[in-house]
Amino acid sequence: MEIIDKIGKTATNTCKITVCKTNKMAQRTKLKMHINECKEEIEDIYNKIGKKVYEKHVREENIDIKQDLEEECSKIDRYSKEIDNSIERILMLKDMKKCPNCFSEIMIQYNFCPNCGKKQYNTKPREEKIVERLENEDIDNTNEKEAEIIKEEKEE
Ligand SMILES: [Zn+2]
Repeated sequence: MEIIDKIGKTATNTCKITVCKTNKMAQRTKLKMHINECKEEIEDIYNKIGKKVYEKHVREENIDIKQDLEEECSKIDRYSKEIDNSIERILMLKDMKKCPNCFSEIMIQYNFCPNCGKKQYNTKPREEKIVERLENEDIDNTNEKEAEIIKEEKEE
C-alpha cells in the first residue's frame, strides 16, 4: 500500500509541475501577444503623425510638436511603457530579470550583475502578483472602460 501511495503522490506532484509550466507558457504567450498589439498601435500612431506632418507641409504650415502631436506622442509613451512592463513580466516567468544598470538579462536570484557588477535590489520573484494581474486583466479593462464612460458623462 505504501508504495502505491508514494507513486500516487509523485504522480500528483508531476501533474502540478506540468500545470504550472503550461500556465507559465500560456502567460508568456498572452504577454507576447500584448506586446505585438502595442507595437501595432504604435505603428498606427506613427502613420497618423506622418499624415499630420504631410498635411501641414501641403498647407505650408509649421508643425508644433507640443501643440499638434502631443496626444500622439504621449500615446506612444504609454504603449512603450506597456511593452517594457510585458517584457519584464516575461523575464520573471523565466526566472530572469533585467539589470537596471546595463540591461543584461540575468537570473532572478543574482545579487550582483555578472556583466557589470551592479548590486541588485528586489530580487524576490513577484510571480503571484503577475498571475493575479493576468487573471484579472479582462475585468480590469472593463473597469477602466467604465471609469472612462463615467468620466465622460461627468464632463458633459
Ligand atoms: Zn549589469
